Amino acid sequence: MIDPANAASPLSSAEQLRYARHLSLPEIGLDGQRRLRQASVLVIGAGGLGTPALLYLAAAGVGRLGIIDPDRVELSNLQRQILYSTDACGSPKVEVARDRLLALNPHLQIDVYPAAFTLANAAPLIADYDLIIEGSDQFATKYLVNDACVLAGKPYIGASIRAFSGMLAVYAAPEGPCYRCLFPEMPAPETVPSCAQAGVLGTVPGLFGILQAHETLKLILGIGEPLIGALLKIDLLTMRFQKLRLPRDPGCPGCGASSTRHTLSESAAVCATPARHTEADLPWLSVAASQQRPALRWVDVRTTAEFTAGHVPGAIHAPLDQIEDWAGSVGPHDELLLYCWQGGRTVQAYHRLPGTLQGQVSLLQGGYEVWLNRQG
Ligand SMILES: [Zn+2]
Repeated sequence: MIDPANAASPLSSAEQLRYARHLSLPEIGLDGQRRLRQASVLVIGAGGLGTPALLYLAAAGVGRLGIIDPDRVELSNLQRQILYSTDACGSPKVEVARDRLLALNPHLQIDVYPAAFTLANAAPLIADYDLIIEGSDQFATKYLVNDACVLAGKPYIGASIRAFSGMLAVYAAPEGPCYRCLFPEMPAPETVPSCAQAGVLGTVPGLFGILQAHETLKLILGIGEPLIGALLKIDLLTMRFQKLRLPRDPGCPGCGASSTRHTLSESAAVCATPARHTEADLPWLSVAASQQRPALRWVDVRTTAEFTAGHVPGAIHAPLDQIEDWAGSVGPHDELLLYCWQGGRTVQAYHRLPGTLQGQVSLLQGGYEVWLNRQG
């Protein structure tokens, strides 16, 4: 914990030098820099949004940062998760992040949680920080963060991104709206592509992560007009910025007066199940096992752009949206192995095939990503 006596203590000479560009701003100055030093921020997800946000919060001197993420660094993260270097692949993200952030600013306290953000840890974690940054790519987590922050009465800065666009707001502030005021219920997992299959230009999460850090600093410093009751939408292909009014919905199932949710377990029951694409009872085949079956015909169900960029040699291309038509060309003795990037679309493709064909079909466990990783 930060020492309360620290609040009024002067800045060291090293701190005065480090934060000179803050100290010369009348809106920040000594009092503002002390506020930053006293503040604590929890960053949920150390990915495309969380990593740029963390770099700027650490650089700005936010005294205590919490980072929760269960994942290890992967090569496919490095296109946008700028905290990590190539030699960090395989290491837990939160540990790599802590080392890097302390190298940037040794004055900070960094708490790390190499775990998923779940119903079990949500309430105590949120209670322990002043502000929350929601940087998850899972809808279940977004709703859990929202509900936990509403119940705790704690504002959080949320962002959602797609390929070239995104939106940002401060949710769950007193009198402000929550995420459920905008989107009352979680969409069905199969209707929402994850970043792994949808793709994103690396600068898009970068910009939104920095905007999340920026709103966080404004809230700590009490300056400007934070995005409370407002939604910032940005189309980064056309560079169209829109600031829309986002009022609180009195009938909101999350924060409205008629909400019957008073505990997190009630509130988050609808989203306690993360969006998992793998279905355990399907005929999955590992990459290793697939190599023992040379008669298999590999079928790539990804988009043309993905297939063109690289695929398993000899694979047939049958994009998911054409899989029903393609199924007509399958012979009665063909043995098929479906794959996509990670497995989500493979499951969808399997379910779209006629029942008579499903007995001839296996699904590649882990998808093309795992296959690629085994190629060295
Ligand atoms: Zn609401």
